[in-house]
Amino acid sequence: MKEYGLVIDGRSIATARQKPVTSPSTGALVGLSPLATTADLDKAVAAANRAFPAWAAMSSSERAALCGKLAETIEAHAEELAHLLTLEQGKPLNGLGSRFEIGGAVAWTRYTASLDLPIEIVQDGPEGRVELHRKPIGVVAAITPWNWPVMIACWHIIPAIRIGNTVVIKPSPNTPLSTIRLVELLNTVLPPGVVNVIADDNDLGSALTTHKDIAKVTFTGSTATGRKVMASAADTLKRLTLELGGNDAGIVLPDADPKAIAEGLFWGAFINSGQTCACLKRLYVHDSIYDAVCEALAAYAGQIKLGDGLADDSVLGPLQNAQQFAIVSDYVNDAIEKGGRVLTGGRPADGPGYFYPVTLIADVKHGAKLVDLEQFGPALPIIRYYDIEEAIAMANDNPSGLGGSVWSSDTARAKAVASRMECGSVWINKHGAVQPNAPFGGIKQSGVGIEFGVDGLKEFTVIQTVFS
Ligand code: NAD
Repeated sequence: MKEYGLVIDGRSIATARQKPVTSPSTGALVGLSPLATTADLDKAVAAANRAFPAWAAMSSSERAALCGKLAETIEAHAEELAHLLTLEQGKPLNGLGSRFEIGGAVAWTRYTASLDLPIEIVQDGPEGRVELHRKPIGVVAAITPWNWPVMIACWHIIPAIRIGNTVVIKPSPNTPLSTIRLVELLNTVLPPGVVNVIADDNDLGSALTTHKDIAKVTFTGSTATGRKVMASAADTLKRLTLELGGNDAGIVLPDADPKAIAEGLFWGAFINSGQTCACLKRLYVHDSIYDAVCEALAAYAGQIKLGDGLADDSVLGPLQNAQQFAIVSDYVNDAIEKGGRVLTGGRPADGPGYFYPVTLIADVKHGAKLVDLEQFGPALPIIRYYDIEEAIAMANDNPSGLGGSVWSSDTARAKAVASRMECGSVWINKHGAVQPNAPFGGIKQSGVGIEFGVDGLKEFTVIQTVFS
């Protein structure tokens, strides 16, 4: 059985305590995760602090070249990482699963490596010259969830180091192994201490977010934990980027073609078995095409094969953990009790594993948990509306504001509705498609700050204004 270590100062460190990581498909042991102590955490932060001055002083083009090599290194180990990811996370190797995720990690790394933040000239004239310099902040703590662990690790690490910060990353205890392996690979290219990884039993997050030598926290996870991160970062006034939960609404206008949009709706809602922050989580459909959309979605869902991610023909995998499985089961039962009509799925599959079939529930209303809360799983409520004002009001009637979508044959009309949705990203006739050059972030209680592109890079800097 493979035992993994922490990576601190470029070296693999075994720990006295370990934690078994098991496959959500079979329950089989995948590997042993190290469990860091607070002393290990202090060592990781100290290593990152020691590495910071030289890394920050390196020329931007040298750092860009090293970050470009990181993309090559991840790409060269893509198959190994994808297999490990499928084993511990559960998503299929194929389709929009592990190979897709590792491909995304490579694409984000390569693109982010190519970005730069040159000095900006604010003023240059007889009254003097004013320059805006962007400087790295220091040691960044990166805290990640279990749904897209490798890609999100790259979303955190690469912009941070590209611009001269150093990093201590802490993955979710549900999926630590692929992040540890990723950081081992990054350390074959980077100077020691630039990227360090610690693993925990869900007990070291606050030690990171309160640590006096950490200057910034970049956090992706639930809104509830995000609140704790924000509160605990206050004493030391750390910079924060928080990418939190979503409850994305999609609005289908009466002029949409149900058959043409079924595939896009399906993948918007069910990519990674619905365990994606910006998945379509509430679908509002106009009464005039409600039945046709339900029928087209159910027909598409009927062809989807659920199974062990290592099997070539699996299209969707299990839920990642028992806790998420219990949440999805509870929300579906609640929706049924409140009058929801099951179109497909509706109860867990037989074991082993945390398999829950694709579930579509019609005639659900606000007040059901499946509508009001984030299900983070393969169950979509379909809500009927009669009037577009009513649909927009229902879509916005939620504390989250991550993504949204409008489905229509008329792009201009769809954009007019989209502009009234309270969310950080909005898509027309698709949902949840993110890309490395487009800023992504939540509004309302879905987050603080932005990831990706030049705006995402700026989040890892502080401004120094130089007057001469
Ligand atoms: P979670 O909040 O339970 O855990 C996220 C991370 O925080 C883990 O590494 C965990 O160990 C750590 N943590 C736990 N307690 C902490 C504390 N007190 N201080 C600091 N860190 C602590 O989230 P999860 O269940 O792993 O992930 C699912 C959630 O993440 C969903 O709500 C989903 O919408 C959200 N998410 C958001 C985005 C986005 O970009 N907005 C992306 C992916 C996932």
